[in-house]
Amino acid sequence: MIFRKMASPAVLPVESKSLHVPPLQEVAQVLQGGLESNFRDVSVCVVECPDLTQSPWRLAAPGICGSPRLVDIGGVPYLFPLPDCSKLYDMADIARLVGLPGAFLLGAGAGSSKVVGVNCEMVPNVRVEGGSAVAMNNTHIAKVNTKDGSIQQEKYDSVETGPLVNVLASEGKRGKVFEIKVKCRTGEENFVSCMRKALASCYGDKPVGMGGVFVISQGSAKLHVMPAFSEVPLTTSEDVNNWLKFYTVPGPLTCLSELISHDPGLDLRIDHTHCFSEHGEGGHYHYDTTPETIEYHGYYTLAESVYRVDRPENTHQLGRD
Ligand SMILES: [Zn+2]
Repeated sequence: MIFRKMASPAVLPVESKSLHVPPLQEVAQVLQGGLESNFRDVSVCVVECPDLTQSPWRLAAPGICGSPRLVDIGGVPYLFPLPDCSKLYDMADIARLVGLPGAFLLGAGAGSSKVVGVNCEMVPNVRVEGGSAVAMNNTHIAKVNTKDGSIQQEKYDSVETGPLVNVLASEGKRGKVFEIKVKCRTGEENFVSCMRKALASCYGDKPVGMGGVFVISQGSAKLHVMPAFSEVPLTTSEDVNNWLKFYTVPGPLTCLSELISHDPGLDLRIDHTHCFSEHGEGGHYHYDTTPETIEYHGYYTLAESVYRVDRPENTHQLGRD
């Protein structure tokens, strides 16, 4: 396992805000109602977190509880119109910056082009050095195979990230979580944005954040994988979509996910989900492509706060879906 140190975390600007944390049972009912408007079979319960190191969850820590907080690092403005290749972050430093040295981090971001050799998707899933628990890294990256254009997923032993990352940071403990099971999509929303919008319509401008893991056990999903950095400026959504590579990938897919119902003025990405698999494919989750057969099963926790690290000064809304 390689845990490489990077320079000068102290210079990164950090902002934070407390989130609204309603009672778990109340949120479970809100999610149940929201998901029922988009899926035929829905079950949302508050349960004791199972051991999420086990297949099919394959997390680097047993649970997603213990001081849970969302962290939004960098952003798409460091990628478009043209990439800022100096934007690389160290996940152990991020954990310290958000007050949780040795945290368990899971979520979605860009891998380090310096480590991988090319721009790529990253599925952060790491218990970093710095706390009392043993460090553990089950992060994966997905890149575009230059030979045939297929997805090439690889294990990623570094803790260096590319210019944007969204994670749930926690102590990686077991505790009370939402268990969410849905089958058969009847509406147009994807699983994650459906939950985010349900929270937003109930809680309005009181931000509620969640992060966790879900598995697409049956059916398939539309994913994208970023290719090598664009050499020409990408200035419109059309430019971005023409540059990205899109794939339809069958389950089982393990998806690491975070969302927030309302941006409290931190220029956040409001949801972000990446997946990896045992069959060698992974990437950025957009939506499922098999509404009749789709099955989602996941565990989420409520975040207590949100941290914004190295927020871009010149921002835009391009490429955030
Ligand atoms: Zn992504």
